[in-house]
Amino acid sequence: MSNWHDQLPIVRGRYVPDARLAEQTWFRVGGAADVLFRPADEADLAHFLSNKPEQVPVTVIGAGSNLLVRDGGVSGVVIRLGRGFSDIRIDGDFVHVGAGCLDRTVSLTCRDAGVGNLEFLVGIPGTIGGAVRMNAGAYGQEIKDILVYADVLDSQGERHRLTPEALQMTYRHTSLEDGWIVTGAVLKGTAGQDPADIGKAIDAILQEREASQPTRGRTGGSTFKNPDHEKAWKLIDAAGCRGLKIGDAQVSEKHCNFLLNLDQATANDLESLGEEVKRRVYETSGVRLDWEIVKVGIK
Ligand SMILES: Cc1cc2nc3c(=O)[nH]c(=O)nc-3n(C[C@H](O)[C@H](O)[C@H](O)COP(=O)(O)OP(=O)(O)OC[C@H]3O[C@@H](n4cnc5c(N)ncnc54)[C@H](O)[C@@H]3O)c2cc1C
Repeated sequence: MSNWHDQLPIVRGRYVPDARLAEQTWFRVGGAADVLFRPADEADLAHFLSNKPEQVPVTVIGAGSNLLVRDGGVSGVVIRLGRGFSDIRIDGDFVHVGAGCLDRTVSLTCRDAGVGNLEFLVGIPGTIGGAVRMNAGAYGQEIKDILVYADVLDSQGERHRLTPEALQMTYRHTSLEDGWIVTGAVLKGTAGQDPADIGKAIDAILQEREASQPTRGRTGGSTFKNPDHEKAWKLIDAAGCRGLKIGDAQVSEKHCNFLLNLDQATANDLESLGEEVKRRVYETSGVRLDWEIVKVGIK
């Protein structure tokens, strides 16, 4: 890939060359993107995708709350959806949201409007785009249960409207192709609820989280998916990994399916620690854990 920077299309959004990505993620680790692109809106993003040089790889990130950016950085263009993707419009039971909206903001906006059934989103610190891509969930609900459809741009910038069935959403999985970008979604809530009741449910979720998760730490949320009929944290605990450290990377004492960057951890420390946990769990229980955290970039 030689000199492709000069061949990027003219856009209304912003290109930032050699952009540090650590600040864009909860773990606060990892190298730089060749170019970080913040599109102005969906049309700007579609224009970029249909006109960029074909050989330039594209990676989209949300709030970086389930993401480990490796120390060598990310080649090509990293896309982050900002203000042009943050609208929330409520129409009866239907909640139209931009993919850059934080799940928490959507949940609180719905509370204020008396729209229930989206309370679980309050504790998930990502964006709607990331939630659709990961089929995020908590407290027995997942995005697939409330998603009417997602608007998605394919790698050529063509728009598709995809239902949960088309996205083949299962536990923390969708069939969304790499390079396809969620730009917005319609979620279905239940209008006409009492905001005070919704507020109580939301407060209970937030208190429960605070008690059981290191919600203020530099973490990536659940590191591994729960295997069928098992809890990853129990297997990790049984393998003696609670509190295990490599450099400044540590398995959380509070919730041992969470990894922490205590201060100066590198992405390599965190990934090596995760692999060590996997190895020990396999040794003690015979179960192979699967990463839930998405790893991007060069080691
Ligand atoms: C303290 C804490 C608690 C958490 N609790 C939960 C929980 O209860 N339940 C749960 O499910 N998760 C939880 N998570 C994990 C995380 O918040 C979710 O997976 C979230 O949906 C990720 O969204 P994001 O915007 O941060 O995506 P990122 O972490 O930035 O990216 C994750 C993946 O989504 C892709 N992606 C992001 N935006 C888009 C887009 N617009 N279009 C296409 N692909 C996109 C990225 O390419 C990447 O593959 C937690 C994380 C933390 C730190």
